[in-house]
Amino acid sequence: MKIVRVESIPVRIPLKPERRMISALGRHDVSDFLLVRLESDDGNEGWGEATVTPRWSGETCRGAKAIVDDVLGPAVIGCAADDLPELDRRMDAVAVGNWFAKSAIEMACWDIHGKATRKPVYELLGGACRPLTIRSRFSLGAYEPDRARRRATELVAAGFTTIKVKVGIDPVRDIERVRIVRDAIGPDIALTIDANGGWDVETAIRAIRELKSCCLEIVEQPIPPGDYTGLARVRKETGAKILADESCFDLIHAQELIRHDCCDAISLYPGKNGGIRKAREIAMLAVQHGIACSIGSNLEWDLGTAAMAHFIVATPNMQVERYPGDLLGPDYHEVSIAKNPLSIHGPLTTLNTGPGLGIDVDLDVIEKHRID
Ligand SMILES: [Mg+2]
Repeated sequence: MKIVRVESIPVRIPLKPERRMISALGRHDVSDFLLVRLESDDGNEGWGEATVTPRWSGETCRGAKAIVDDVLGPAVIGCAADDLPELDRRMDAVAVGNWFAKSAIEMACWDIHGKATRKPVYELLGGACRPLTIRSRFSLGAYEPDRARRRATELVAAGFTTIKVKVGIDPVRDIERVRIVRDAIGPDIALTIDANGGWDVETAIRAIRELKSCCLEIVEQPIPPGDYTGLARVRKETGAKILADESCFDLIHAQELIRHDCCDAISLYPGKNGGIRKAREIAMLAVQHGIACSIGSNLEWDLGTAAMAHFIVATPNMQVERYPGDLLGPDYHEVSIAKNPLSIHGPLTTLNTGPGLGIDVDLDVIEKHRID
């Protein structure tokens, strides 16, 4: 099962008009993905996806292609696709960062390993510890009041039981938006907010206190990543539960979050964390300290979403029942790369049980949307 070829293909996929996102990080109208195709010496192929957004991880499609073609790809040639510690060691030895690019290669290795052994990835990870259908929250953009009210009402009608509202742009309008959504969805739907690091410590404390009557389930990344002391202060002074997202790309970040006692939960995703294996390591460290994990999203396409779903299903501490995450990326995009797309109905996403990631890639879709 040795890797003999690494190919990368950049594509650009538009979002459905009604799903275009606005957050403290800006607008998201199209998604660029770097697809990675690996071949192994036993004749199998595996696919992976780097969900590249420069404002999230600093990666771009062209940059990810260069690092995969020139640096990571050559380093992993000859590595066994089922020896992921060695794969990660080789990639980390030649490039720091580049989380999503590394995860695309790692994802493709899981896919090859699964295809070679005729097993879905969740079985390679130890088997399912929860049902294969996963309930997500809906992430509502930082929309103007009328649109936020209308959209929130539609989402409850579509079956969503947790709504997340994007804040972190302007505290007055942020607070107004959250109150409008709480009013629209009624008291029985869980409500969370995500500032994407857009508030400072004082603003976060003030805003969260003002939102006390909205009964927020959890507050996601209220302040910029890296300020663990500030995050601990927000948590202590507001009494709010804190979900760390941009604060946790790797195991060292997770150790800092634990050391500073500054979060109740950590948002993980294989792309952000440089692969399924590394995300699992964080989930296992967190559980030892009583910290739950959930799934976050960078609006992945079918391959990235499938990798997330396998990881959730096979990782006990991915407590998506308690803190629903985002597993809806393919439903945001106008086209699917899969001949057999994941089933997504309202908040419910169901994993395919075919070998590997369970996604049959449609080469015609790739050709039509490639951007190189
Ligand atoms: Mg987030």
